Amino acid sequence: MTTGNINVSVENIFPLIKKFLYSDHEIFLRELISNATDATLKLKHLTNIGEAPGVEYGNPIIEVKIDKEAKKLHIIDQGLGMTAEEVQKYINEVAFSGAEEFLDKYKDSAKDSGIIGHFGLGFYSAFMVADTVEIITKSYKDEPAAHWSCDGSPKYSLEETDKKVRGTEIILHINEDSLEFLEEGKINELLTKYNKFMPVPIKFGTREETNTVGEGDDAKEEKTTVDNIVNNPDPAWTKQPADLSPEEYKNFYRELYPMQFEEPLFHIHLNVDYPFNLTGILYFPKLSNDMTMQKDKIQLYQNQVFVTDNVEGIVPEFLTMLKGVIDSPDIPLNVSRSYLQADGNVKKISSYITRKVADKLKSLFNENREDFEKKWNDIKIVIEYGMLSEDKFFEKADKFALYPTVDNTYFTFEELQEKIKENQTDKDGKLVILYASNKDAQHTYINEAKERGYEVLLLDSPIVSHLIQKLETSKENISFTRVDSDSLDNLIKKDEEKISKLSDEEKESLKTVLDEVVPKEKFTVQLEALDSKASPFTITQPEFMRRMKEMSATGGSGMFGMGNMPEMYNLVVNTNHELVNDILNTKTKAKQERLIKQSLDLARLSQGLLKGEELTNFVKRSYEMIK
Ligand code: ADP
Ligand code: MG
Repeated sequence: MTTGNINVSVENIFPLIKKFLYSDHEIFLRELISNATDATLKLKHLTNIGEAPGVEYGNPIIEVKIDKEAKKLHIIDQGLGMTAEEVQKYINEVAFSGAEEFLDKYKDSAKDSGIIGHFGLGFYSAFMVADTVEIITKSYKDEPAAHWSCDGSPKYSLEETDKKVRGTEIILHINEDSLEFLEEGKINELLTKYNKFMPVPIKFGTREETNTVGEGDDAKEEKTTVDNIVNNPDPAWTKQPADLSPEEYKNFYRELYPMQFEEPLFHIHLNVDYPFNLTGILYFPKLSNDMTMQKDKIQLYQNQVFVTDNVEGIVPEFLTMLKGVIDSPDIPLNVSRSYLQADGNVKKISSYITRKVADKLKSLFNENREDFEKKWNDIKIVIEYGMLSEDKFFEKADKFALYPTVDNTYFTFEELQEKIKENQTDKDGKLVILYASNKDAQHTYINEAKERGYEVLLLDSPIVSHLIQKLETSKENISFTRVDSDSLDNLIKKDEEKISKLSDEEKESLKTVLDEVVPKEKFTVQLEALDSKASPFTITQPEFMRRMKEMSATGGSGMFGMGNMPEMYNLVVNTNHELVNDILNTKTKAKQERLIKQSLDLARLSQGLLKGEELTNFVKRSYEMIK
């Protein structure tokens, strides 16, 4: 038997490890199973290339076993094992010096970063939950098995033992603070979280299986006890797209998110090996307009080991609303998030993903436009958000982003331009795109615009004001205006001579009369010589202010303070309408006032602005009138 001190200069490194790793101590199991997997896959490789003559690879599994009474947790593999010499080298020297270096280097920064598990501290993370750790290992080479034991001081012992079967058994003597790791439920939870898709089958206990044997009348149910394998070693993303049916993609979605009952809209299979390695499947879920955080997120794996579901920085922000998996060994995890963002590989990965998503959307659009239109409402948030945040995506999406009208016709931007340029170009050559955000609330305005042959878009996603702003600045000579932002004539100013039925003096006196009745703090009166059939009174809300307020409400930068501005409305009075003429010519003050009030209320009613007591009074007054 050999005893010795583990090669380390810090007197007692274990308390340090425990302290640093405290917040994330459950990762020990992932680390040990990763090592067991590595050992198995290494052996597979050796037998494949003929470097392990006489060794039968077989169907190795990894087993996790709880011994509650003895407070021990076993992780057993059938991998390549270690000779005593290798234990010396890999466990006593190499790994530990790595740990020491790490602790030295990251003493301050690593404490609450939660990234410790990715430092390759690996094996020694066992000491977070165990007082004593034993390794019993038999190499595939013809050498005696070794038994290593360490009680959490730098002292270890190493002796020969009589293990006959190839592989390694790690035994953790779980410490008093970590007894939860002797609970079946807890271990199950961890295996599901970290090891669900690892490449070597993992056994955790057994389960009963019911099979039907025999046929017809002789058929009977037979119960057998089988290994309870907790993982799927061949998850869909490791396969070729050609080998997967649409059904299998959907099944994998369910496997990833067992609590999710909504089907995904479509998927994107990622597969690249140069200049970085990345595989994965992303799913477009149905998204509603409220962008509340979804709890099923994209999961990041490295070689089928779950790492995190915080993919911030790796996946562009607008795509974090998607679901699915990404697996890449090339994402550096042993560094802080800020470093991650500056990493060249990570940048490339992020733009690769963006490009793939854009390409997929483009092909869906090209291949089945009708279906794409049907899905538009569910995917527009992601696309619009992407157009806002990534210029590269904006360029691509410009070809397939859709602009639906209030009558459910879907145009691309180019198609829209073509369709409306004749009728909706103003006198300065600017193309004016009319839109509504709510078909019911803006019904009157939409109707008037349509009567004049204008197209009215229905743009109702919460970030639409930002998108419009972006479109206006990236395209030439266009402007978006909501249908209720001005009188119809002013929305798209044409070069037509406006003929007013009122003289300048008449307008003056009309203005005076109106100003006396219309509350100044709420409405700015605006006299317009409109079509005599156009509404006599209309309330409008100027596009610019309203849009700025909306942008500030949905988190626009540079819009600071806009959200606090009061709502501003204009009262457009059509001087060519008969009613307005009547108002002007009414002799009794009382009647004049009543006409104005009633008209103002009607205008407010159609803009949805008449509420509460004022609405009650309006209704009462109207009944009086029809008596
Ligand atoms: P890493 O896995 O990053 O190399 P670890 O600290 O997890 O670091 O493990 C150190 C080394 O110990 C491994 O590289 C491997 O050589 C050896 N080792 C650990 N566990 C096993 C095992 N179950 N079977 C064979 N070798 C192992
Ligand atoms: Mg390891």
